[in-house]
Amino acid sequence: MKSKSITFQLPSVLRAMFETAIVFLYPSRCRVCDDFLGVASMPYICADCWQDVQYLKPPWCDICGTPDVNGLCDACATSPPRYGQLRTVALYQTTLQQATHLFKFEKKKVFARHLIELINAHIPVDCDIATYDFILPIPIHKKRLRERGFNQATLLADGIAKAAGVPVLTDALVRKRHTVAQSSLDREARQQNIVGAFEIRNPKVIRGKRLLVIDDVFTTGATIREAVNELWTVDPAEVDVLTLARALNP
Ligand SMILES: [Zn+2]
Ligand SMILES: [Zn+2]
Repeated sequence: MKSKSITFQLPSVLRAMFETAIVFLYPSRCRVCDDFLGVASMPYICADCWQDVQYLKPPWCDICGTPDVNGLCDACATSPPRYGQLRTVALYQTTLQQATHLFKFEKKKVFARHLIELINAHIPVDCDIATYDFILPIPIHKKRLRERGFNQATLLADGIAKAAGVPVLTDALVRKRHTVAQSSLDREARQQNIVGAFEIRNPKVIRGKRLLVIDDVFTTGATIREAVNELWTVDPAEVDVLTLARALNP
């Protein structure tokens, strides 16, 4: 028993020592507030800035999760989206903007572990992950996957799924069309850009099932809407959405 626990703990101890040594040898500044990072800090973002993350709490719109709304927001009351509920862990403010940028565009995979811990510690109160049959990350096109080396939504989905004991499906909803990065476009262009980007493979697996779609950032919702619409073409029982961050007034 004893030797087993040592075998499992050693890599993380070594990794922590290595990360500490790197920070000590190459002192750098926090990407958010520009203060020097302490030796015990996460790389790139200081502990104080992590404390600034604003986690969402009810009330929020019953469907789309817009904060400070009782019942339904105007948009959902007039034309409800096709997901049952969309929930978000935190606001997309400076710390999470930097963290997701470092993670996604600067390929700092070290952020995956930290963001997963942050999500699992702050799952919205009415989002019971264990009740879903499958968790589906928003897919990226294989060309982008080759460039980036990983899909950030899949890494987050894996961490959320593992904690809740729910399987992840990555081969049922796929990106069939390579599109320009949504982050480079305005609201209207995003909608145009994403139309027809997804495709369902293996419809039998998801028919009649409760699905939870995972993405990193909810901005205009165009990507999520398109993916959810595509999923409904094969009659799942339910499609809900959980994202790490949400932009207000994008
Ligand atoms: Zn800072
Ligand atoms: Zn709403």
